[in-house]
Amino acid sequence: MSASRRLLLLTLLFSPLPVIAQSTDTERAAARDILKQIDALEARLDPTGMANDLVGRSDADQDALVRRTTELWESEMQALSDFIGHNPEVGWEEFNTVDTLTAVLRGRGWDVEVGVAGLETAFVATWTSPAGADGLMLGLIGEYDALRDADGAFHGDQHNAQTPIVFASAFALAEHMAANGTPGRIRIYGTPAEEVGPPAKTIMHEAGVFDGADLLIRSHGVTQTSRAQVGFGSCCLNINEVKYTFLGKPSHQMSSWHGRNALEAAVHFYTLVDGLRSTFRPESSIQGVISEGGDAPNVVPQRAVVDYYIRYPDPVYLAHVTEMMDNAARGAAMATGTEVQIDRYGEYRDGISLGTLQELSFAYAGSLDAPNIAPEPRRPSGYEETGVVTKDIPGIGISIYSSREANHTRGMLEDTFSDVGHTGFRISAETMSSVLYDFLTKPELREAVREEHRVLAGLLDQYHEALRRAYASEVGRPISQN
Ligand SMILES: [Zn+2]
Repeated sequence: MSASRRLLLLTLLFSPLPVIAQSTDTERAAARDILKQIDALEARLDPTGMANDLVGRSDADQDALVRRTTELWESEMQALSDFIGHNPEVGWEEFNTVDTLTAVLRGRGWDVEVGVAGLETAFVATWTSPAGADGLMLGLIGEYDALRDADGAFHGDQHNAQTPIVFASAFALAEHMAANGTPGRIRIYGTPAEEVGPPAKTIMHEAGVFDGADLLIRSHGVTQTSRAQVGFGSCCLNINEVKYTFLGKPSHQMSSWHGRNALEAAVHFYTLVDGLRSTFRPESSIQGVISEGGDAPNVVPQRAVVDYYIRYPDPVYLAHVTEMMDNAARGAAMATGTEVQIDRYGEYRDGISLGTLQELSFAYAGSLDAPNIAPEPRRPSGYEETGVVTKDIPGIGISIYSSREANHTRGMLEDTFSDVGHTGFRISAETMSSVLYDFLTKPELREAVREEHRVLAGLLDQYHEALRRAYASEVGRPISQN
């Protein structure tokens, strides 16, 4: 890395950029002291300096590992990525894809378990070193669900490439560990349905699937090679996904007074929520659909369902909004003589991004000639979309340019089969192997990653405490955190 580039990175690192994770004045005020502590932590750990040092070292074993990763990508995994790309399956229905992927793993002697955490298309595959399991456990996450539009399923988010990328890196690393007598395990997590709720990774995490991993790594196709700013945040706000099911009593239209109308309850609730919008802070984003509303006009609807995504920049005020919405649903049920069942089926939270791993991966991407590099870091966000896993396990999401067109487009699908995609995926696998090699072989990096993660996780709790104090007078009662 050139001196001017390094200076630019340092300038960015110590400018007050972490503040971009906080969206409102209240959040910025609550985060002020915490951001100072993050700055002090980063100044001490010096992730950019450490990254430049690690990337600059010459290491024949690491070079051989990266060459083998390239070879595996070019000889097998690129074709596998294309095959999955041409055979898209949407979330929770990725049966053929999982069969294809797990057949490759079994063929290489990996121990495969399909249907983990009660999810039919989730899997875990484990490789144990012939030198023994007593070492690190390196975890790699791969997604494989497709999007759907009016023309059917398509891989417009390039999830087709994710698991083949992970395979190229993991298989090369396993060969390296076996050849060097390095004990430990490598685990590949097949995580379904990223594009549809409920969030599979949260379910898998709550079932303990990721337990024991020392590090989690993944990649995602993007339009710029970039890294996330250190700190906590989420790409798309904190979210509660909540389903409100109203249950009434059926009756014939001509004697409707014998029934209790669940659809009317749902409509009252939907209207009540609109009436609450001025009571909520303007950064709230609340959108819902009435997904069930009865079967026939001449029968009083017995069951109606309203499905809401409730979003707010932080989880503390989000809990307040959600509580008021739950109460509105109960009020609508009471008014109509129906009952309501409230099912919060999904939660997305601020995730943690680590400077140590972000800078290292970014520096390797640069050294591997990744195209279209964004000089400025992105808003902080976790390495996986739920944020929940990132709070407990340190990790990194690798973002290498692999498409000229935006995510979730047919153009991105085209690029998944083109040189743009193939090159980006190869560099993603090479970057992944480089980072995993350093984590495996450099205790000083492991210590820095663990310390940074521990401190940031603690600061995230402190940030939420500060927000609870900041909002206390406004909502007139303590806000339960969720
Ligand atoms: Zn995606």
